Amino acid sequence: MRLSHHYVVPHVSTGDMLRAAVKSGTPLGQKAREIMDRGELLGDDLIMEMVAERIAEPDARARGFILDGCPRTTQQAEALAALLHPGDIDLAVDIDVPTKQVLRRLADRRVCSDCGANYSLSAPPKVNWTCDICGGEVVQREDDTEAAITRRLDLYERQTAPLIDWYSERGQLARVNGVGTADAVLNRIIRAIEERRAGRPGTRRRRR
Ligand code: AMP
Repeated sequence: MRLSHHYVVPHVSTGDMLRAAVKSGTPLGQKAREIMDRGELLGDDLIMEMVAERIAEPDARARGFILDGCPRTTQQAEALAALLHPGDIDLAVDIDVPTKQVLRRLADRRVCSDCGANYSLSAPPKVNWTCDICGGEVVQREDDTEAAITRRLDLYERQTAPLIDWYSERGQLARVNGVGTADAVLNRIIRAIEERRAGRPGTRRRRR
């Protein structure tokens, strides 16, 4: 979210879109809730339809977008490339955090139930678990249970981690050290994007 503020482009988070659908009780939300609570992935076609619709909106078309939480499978990456063709993504960013620390961060994570802003037990909102940005209630995510986290990490290894090679082979990957404060990690991501924009060696896009 902070990255999208920095570049003044929409933050397109598939998780946030699904949570909004769950909250408003749409048919998609009713279907998604149980799958999300178990830590499973929703179907590729459904996710990519949702993404296609969102990135076709005027703000994303005019200014681009930060896609968060997607793609999570090579099928989704292929569908995204097809959607953007003859254009393409600028960069895929892999934020590298040791599993032990991921587990600690997920256990500590708290989110705004209205706007999705992230907080933690060690960095809570200023006033009484009320979101600093929109005033919404800040709570623990329903899928941040031990069982769902274990399942999400398992699916990450099997379905999402292969995307590191997938994007690397296409010269579209930046790997960023995700250990440290949110500010430090944000600055590393911005540096990786700027290096890419400047076309520095090692970040240049390879022909497909
Ligand atoms: P997130 O907020 O990105 O952690 O996503 C929360 C949950 O939404 C995931 O555990 C999945 O159940 C579902 N989800 C979000 N994005 C995707 C995606 N790209 N593909 C499949 N399921 C997704």
